[in-house]
Amino acid sequence: MGKILDYDEMNDILDSFDSNVIKKEKPIGYTYFGYPIDHFVYGHGKYHVIITGGTHSSELISNVFVIRFMEKLCNKEIDIDDDLYTIHFIPIVNPEGTIIVTSAIRSLIPRNVSDEEEQTYFLTYYRNSYIEGEYANKYGDRNYKLQQMMFRHATFDILDDKYKPLKDYLRKLFKENNLPKGCMINWSSNGRGVDLNSNIESSSFIDRVESGEKIYANFHLNNIRRDKLGPLGCPYLKKGEIEKENEALLKFYEKIKNNYDYIGSFIYHSCGNIVYYLGGAKVENPWTYLTKDDEENNYSVAKVYADKTGYKLDGLEIYTTMDSKLKSLFPVTLLVELGGVRATPLSQFMDNDIGPSLEFKRVYSNIINDNALAITETLPVMVKIYNEKNICDNCK
Ligand SMILES: [Zn+2]
Repeated sequence: MGKILDYDEMNDILDSFDSNVIKKEKPIGYTYFGYPIDHFVYGHGKYHVIITGGTHSSELISNVFVIRFMEKLCNKEIDIDDDLYTIHFIPIVNPEGTIIVTSAIRSLIPRNVSDEEEQTYFLTYYRNSYIEGEYANKYGDRNYKLQQMMFRHATFDILDDKYKPLKDYLRKLFKENNLPKGCMINWSSNGRGVDLNSNIESSSFIDRVESGEKIYANFHLNNIRRDKLGPLGCPYLKKGEIEKENEALLKFYEKIKNNYDYIGSFIYHSCGNIVYYLGGAKVENPWTYLTKDDEENNYSVAKVYADKTGYKLDGLEIYTTMDSKLKSLFPVTLLVELGGVRATPLSQFMDNDIGPSLEFKRVYSNIINDNALAITETLPVMVKIYNEKNICDNCK
């Protein structure tokens, strides 16, 4: 079996876990088109942790990492004390987007592909995106994109009929917004075409969208508009409307924080090899006041994670994303960008021993192994910081 997992394969793996180790709970909510946002729990300990993947569905490695991590826990390849921790997993935050992007992938790359063949697709996709990045820089070219042309047969038509309402909506959206051919491979938004991370009251895009500005994505994606409903970046369908996925996520975080000893969370995106934490404020934080101590606590947790993975640390925040809201309201939350190579959804699955440069070497294996280790090493630090803070708060 190849390294790519499509939506059905993800669910098959998730449903196959031993329910004595990882238990499927009730979904935290449902999407607009009715897909469950599934929730799984490992352990029954005092300290609660949340781990999420796939906010941006084209960042497919983030779903796959979370699922493979759960699998390692189930197989006892990783040892996390289930008497001490309760870990909540939301491996597919954006089911509609994941259906769209993985259907696009399957239009070219079959399930039963050999490892070798699959790897050539990943490398070709990476190279094509790289070329388009160069063309965008050099010529400001917004024409066809080679990496999208690889997936030019991935139209709304390739969605299975069991996804009919979503399929019909996409048909309408492609027509109305004149979406570029092959762009389903870059689908980061939910099925309505709203980017969940931009779907926030303080999005910097709202004023620009309202003023009618044409806003394009960058580099090899510069033929995609962020001011219109589509593959990425668009902050809302109706101004002020919060998407069901975000509503469910916020409610879920609140529930865990209000009822248990919540010590932190890991939100997975891709790419950049960066660990983002809530650090010094450049502008006023709309959701919380961060003391110097809080800032240092966030840093110490993020530092352990960064040391284990070799990722860069970044604490700057401008509070324009859903994830910045989660980081502000639910300390200590880390946002991890998996993988140092650009070109989602495929390049993070490259797993060659040799390559034209170091960045190609074992991208996939390093992501899976380094981040699994980083979580296990970061959890005890989250507990320590949580307890120190609570003792302090109680003596005030
Ligand atoms: Zn992202």
